[in-house]
Amino acid sequence: MPTESTFLLAGLFLLLAAAGWALGRFDERDGDEPAPPLNIDYLKGLNFLLNEQTDQALEHFLKMVRVDDKTIETHFALGSLFRRRGEIDRAIRIHQNIIARPDLAAEQRDQALFSLAKDYLKAGLLDRAEKMFARLSQGSRYQVEAFEQLCRIYEQEHEWQKAIQAGQQLETLSGKSLELQIAHYYCELAEQAAANNDFPAARSYIKKAQSGRPRTLRGALTRGDIAWESNDAKTALRLYQRIIDENTYLITEALPRIVEIHESEGSLHKLEKNLETMLRKNPEMGVDIAYTAIANNLGGIGVIDRCVEDYMLNDPTLSQFIDVKSIMESNTEARAEALVKVRAALHNLATATPRYQCKECGFSSQRLLWQCPSCKDWETQRPHSRVRFDSVLQRSDSA
Ligand SMILES: [Zn+2]
Repeated sequence: MPTESTFLLAGLFLLLAAAGWALGRFDERDGDEPAPPLNIDYLKGLNFLLNEQTDQALEHFLKMVRVDDKTIETHFALGSLFRRRGEIDRAIRIHQNIIARPDLAAEQRDQALFSLAKDYLKAGLLDRAEKMFARLSQGSRYQVEAFEQLCRIYEQEHEWQKAIQAGQQLETLSGKSLELQIAHYYCELAEQAAANNDFPAARSYIKKAQSGRPRTLRGALTRGDIAWESNDAKTALRLYQRIIDENTYLITEALPRIVEIHESEGSLHKLEKNLETMLRKNPEMGVDIAYTAIANNLGGIGVIDRCVEDYMLNDPTLSQFIDVKSIMESNTEARAEALVKVRAALHNLATATPRYQCKECGFSSQRLLWQCPSCKDWETQRPHSRVRFDSVLQRSDSA
């Protein structure tokens, strides 16, 4: 089967023929010497294509059409076409061919290096891509893009110190604020340090993460985690509580941690009291508490269970499946049993469907991800506030 590359190169050879190049024009013959009826190189190239030897045809094309001012754009176009189509080896071959030209202008060399670096990046050859972008970041017209790509590479390699340096240089060059992104790099360092039980280092990274504006909410959460991991339950509770008091969406992450601490400290009565006070002030938070409790299996705490019951009674989609009202009106034992079942079903649904969604690109995931894997933005994920029935509804639609 001829591949798309075969057609692509065939098209190119035909174009060359149409332009008269294949008939000898680019051979730099003397004006008086008559051109042969058909250039032998051109025929060879076509022969490779007819035999579906795309690589040989490409090599032949590169030999035939030297890189010069007239043809360089064709080479670049061909290179980026191959890259876009995932034929990275061919893209690399073309860009290396451009770079090999001895009298290449500095600007074109930079363009070729930048293209080659992108080829390496797409091929997953991060070390090679990093070297080229680092070179381009030191004074070329691709400086800004090079630093942007370096940040992406260091993010992938979890080289957070290097990411911070690249981010800071990018800020200076581009004039746009990367405070949030850099704050996350510091949070990553803090989490690494905490995982190695180096809590003083972890705290100092968090301080740096929180010194900028806009402040990342991750800093507050990570500070709480560090306090809890270093057995400072009181500070951890204060920090997690602050997240909830500010009525931020991170209640989905903070509440399970708060419950865990109160359980281990034997102080659930205090939690009940705090939540009661909070709900009096912000009754609408009951839904968030319920959804978090359902997803994380937080049960046996009076105020939380009441939020879950309210949630089940008032969920518009759930009422299409079961008659929650009649469950509530039945006798205490049957009611408790039915509610446990519904709650277990909701829990299964909540853990089987995405709980978070990126507000920029819509990418959704079960776990909170600080950097969106799709659009690469930081801290753009938000939790859903209700259990999603999409999968069930799709199933019943297609049934
Ligand atoms: Zn996204």
